[in-house]
This record gives sequence, C-alpha cells and structure tokens, in this order.
Amino acid sequence: MSKKIVIAGAGIGGLCAALAFAKRGFEVAVYEQSPQLGEVGAGLQLSPNAMHVLQALGVAEQVKTKGFRPKSAVMRHYHTGKTYFTVPLGDLATQKYGIDYVHIHRADLHAILQQACEALQLPIYLGQGVQGYCQTTQNLSIQFENGVSLDADLLIGADGIKSKVQACMLGQTAAQFTGQVAWRGVVAANKLPQGLIKPNANLWVGPGKHFVSYYLRGGELVNFVAVQERTDWQKESWNEPGDIHELRETFTGWHPEVTELLAATESCFLWALFDRQPLSQWTDHNVALLGDACHPMLPFLAQGAAMAIEDSYVLAHYLATENNTASALKTYQEQRLTRTREIQLGARKNASLYHMISPLDQAKLAVLSGLSTMGLSDSLAANKLDPIYAYNIVEQLN
Ligand SMILES: Cc1cc2nc3c(=O)[nH]c(=O)nc-3n(C[C@H](O)[C@H](O)[C@H](O)COP(=O)(O)OP(=O)(O)OC[C@H]3O[C@@H](n4cnc5c(N)ncnc54)[C@H](O)[C@@H]3O)c2cc1C
Repeated sequence: MSKKIVIAGAGIGGLCAALAFAKRGFEVAVYEQSPQLGEVGAGLQLSPNAMHVLQALGVAEQVKTKGFRPKSAVMRHYHTGKTYFTVPLGDLATQKYGIDYVHIHRADLHAILQQACEALQLPIYLGQGVQGYCQTTQNLSIQFENGVSLDADLLIGADGIKSKVQACMLGQTAAQFTGQVAWRGVVAANKLPQGLIKPNANLWVGPGKHFVSYYLRGGELVNFVAVQERTDWQKESWNEPGDIHELRETFTGWHPEVTELLAATESCFLWALFDRQPLSQWTDHNVALLGDACHPMLPFLAQGAAMAIEDSYVLAHYLATENNTASALKTYQEQRLTRTREIQLGARKNASLYHMISPLDQAKLAVLSGLSTMGLSDSLAANKLDPIYAYNIVEQLN
C-alpha cells in the first residue's frame, strides 16, 4: 500500500485522482505546471454518473450546496422555440439514478476538491510542470520542466489535452481543431429580465450553431456556451477574450431567450474546440493517463470532466485490489476504453445534429419535432442519455 504516486496536473481529474488514491491508502503528490491553483469562470454540468464518484470521494454534499439542480434538459429550435424534447432532471433524476444532477461553477468544484485534498494533507506543488519520464524494469524517473527529476512508483498523467505525459508515452501528436469555437460567459441573474432563463439545461439548436444556458450557485448566476462552426479562430485557451458585439451579431435572429441574455452580457471568452481520435493505449508499465490527457472530447454530451472523475475512481480501485501495478493499469485501461470512446464519438455526432449539418441530421430533427408534438420524443431522448447517466461505477466495483 505504500506506493508513491505522482500525479501531473491539478485539474478536476488530477484532484479527484489524488483523493481517490489517498482514500485507498496510497502516498500521493500532485505537481501542477501553473503557478496558481484554480479554474476558470464557467459552468459545468455534473450528471449522476459523476456525482456517484464525488459522493464516494466525500464531496457530493458540498457540490450540491454550491450548485444548482436543473428541472429538465430541454432542446429547442433556435428561432421558433419549438421544443424537440424535454428530459426530466431534478427530483425525477434523483429518484431514477439515486443521486442528483447538478450544475456547478468550475471554480467552486475545484475549490471543493482542493479543500478536500488539503484536509487529507495531500501535497500539491505549483509551478512544477512535468516534462516527461524514463522507466526501466526497476525504476521510474519523472523529469520536470525546471530540470529536476524525481523517482516514483507510479506516474499519472492528468495533464489535460496537451498532455506531456501522453506525448512521452505515445509520441508527440497534436490535438485536432474541430472547426468549432465556443463563446462562453457568466452573467448575474439579477441583470436579466425575471423569468427569462428557465431553470433547466436549456439547449437551442440552429444551422451551424447551438447555444446552452443554465443557472449556477443556487440561481445567482447564469452560464452560457455558444458554439459556432468557424475555422478562422484556433486559439485553445479558456482565457482569450471574445468580442461581445460579434457574439451578439452571430446570434441575431435567435429566440429572445438567447438574444436578451446576450444583450445583458458585458463580456465573453472565445475558445477553439479541439479533440483527438479515441486512443487505444493509455498505459505504459507504471505510467497511466486519465481525463482529457487520454480522451479529450467535444463538450456536446457534457461528459469530459465526468469521464475524468470516473477514471480516477476506477484507477484507484484496481491499484488497490490487484497486486501487480502494470496489470492493474491495464485492467483500468480495458475497463475505460469502450465507455470513453463511445462518449467521445457520441459528442461528435451531437455536433452534427445540433448544427443541422447533413440532410440526415435535418430529417432526424424533423422526426423529433413530429414525435414531440405527439409527446413521444422525451422518452426517446431519455433512453439515449440513460446509459451515460445510469452508470454507477462505485456500485459496480463494490
Ligand atoms: C465549453 C466546454 C464546456 C464543458 N462542459 C462540461 C460539462 O458540462 N460537463 C463535463 O463533465 N465536462 C465538460 N467539459 C469538459 C471538461 O472541461 C474537461 O473534460 C475537464 O476539464 C478535463 O479535466 P482534466 O483534469 O482531465 O484536464 P484539465 O482540466 O485540462 O486539467 C489539466 C491540468 O493539468 C495542468 N497541466 C497541464 N500540463 C501540465 C504538465 N506538463 N505538468 C503538470 N501539470 C500540467 C493544467 O494546468 C491543468 O491544471 C466542457 C468543456 C468545454 C470546452
């Protein structure tokens, strides 16, 4: 049990992994490249599959207190507002999945995880970027960007989409620009006309674009993400400012729930979306990847962080229950590959559907619209989300 584990990256995946390892009795330290800890000012949807793990890690109550429970997930036409489907969340999701569906500010979730790590006295070293690793049958040595190196029993690359651990494991390959950008922002709810934003996960779909809005912090804030097919902007940074006038213009003619929200918004960020083909290898003897480092995905199923959270639990479980580290890592990889691959590909399919790209997508939307008039589309949509949300890895592994 006294394995010394080094985690590269103190994002949501890295901190969840630190907690999961510590709860299994491992000695763990996190090394973060950034000189400061924190997360950007944006929202995150946490579905029940992620919440089960957060509960096992002891932080679900804080997440619920800081978050917002949406009533439903609703998809509507960008202009007419016609509903394609409504999937009940709120109390019905809690009954169905045994735990809440929650919207939370990323910085709040990150702070909760950080405090939980501090309570367990887990070291988090800042300004310590991992450059790569070398391993022999006897030894694993981790190299840092500042030239220092460190021996450990195990290295976990939780270092995001531009993972240096992945590059060292598999050779350098750049993540691919998806031809889509995301504008995002957060607005105080009291700056908006009362009742404008419904207490749902609101999704508006239209040609070449879609728009998502939802409440955070018990309803104090409204988060939005506006996605556009566009190739002239390829900066992949959460902190690159966007032009609010251009954003308003881009969504001119959309439903007033979208345009009035944008009219009340003072600033926004613009960020190019990247992903990778699903990988077939995430481990190399005593080194493993998790989260965006091995399965970055488009955010159109809201599952990237949820998958990193699930990964952390599965990885800690097999390390604690199998004697041989390399085989525990292989079991982890086998357990996770199919699920994350399906969700990566499912998110891509949603991009095409939401943006009405092909005649087939347009036909599917017309069918959904017709079924919705007959009250039949809601269960169809719920059935598609069920395999994602009803997946309770904590129960499965216990
Ligand atoms: C617009 C948008 C909306 C989204 N919405 C949702 C949602 O609603 N629900 C959901 O589940 N997911 C969502 N996601 C996906 C989610 O944001 C990511 O999947 C998640 O943040 C991945 O976590 P991670 O810890 O793997 O990586 P990251 O969050 O990228 O964290 C990596 C960490 O590693 C550090 N690091 C990088 N390189 C090094 C290095 N060499 N050495 C040490 N440290 C390093 C970084 O500074 C960072 O702290 C969304 C994504 C986008 C773009």
